[in-house]
Amino acid sequence: MASKPRRFTFHGLRVLHYPTARNIVEEFWSQEGLQWSQKRRFYDGRGWTKADSGREMLAWVRRKGRWGFVRDKHELHIWLRRNHNFADTVVLLAHEYGHLMGPWHRNPEREESKAGQYESVAYSAIVLARRLDTKRRG
Ligand SMILES: [Zn+2]
Repeated sequence: MASKPRRFTFHGLRVLHYPTARNIVEEFWSQEGLQWSQKRRFYDGRGWTKADSGREMLAWVRRKGRWGFVRDKHELHIWLRRNHNFADTVVLLAHEYGHLMGPWHRNPEREESKAGQYESVAYSAIVLARRLDTKRRG
């Protein structure tokens, strides 16, 4: 039995926070109108995956430890592994916010690249902020 995501609204954005990787991948798969065993290619940020079934995508999402997707520019679906840290959360949210920022590219590689830039900026900011904090303390 699938657990329901925690739902809340944040600045007009509907947020659905899933308790497990399986929950979010199953939701994504069903929204795409796919059967669990069906194969679908998707862009993982580094390139196109070989055709993956729902089960294979779930294994990939679990290895990654975080994953999300956006719907209709006002709905954010996210999952983070239980032992995630603050950087995991910020990087995931920055990536998904990147998708919500215009312009929306029809080409998935360009769209992922745009979101990846937001993710990359967030990651650099976290690393630099930690370094500044360390220097200040030291
Ligand atoms: Zn993305």
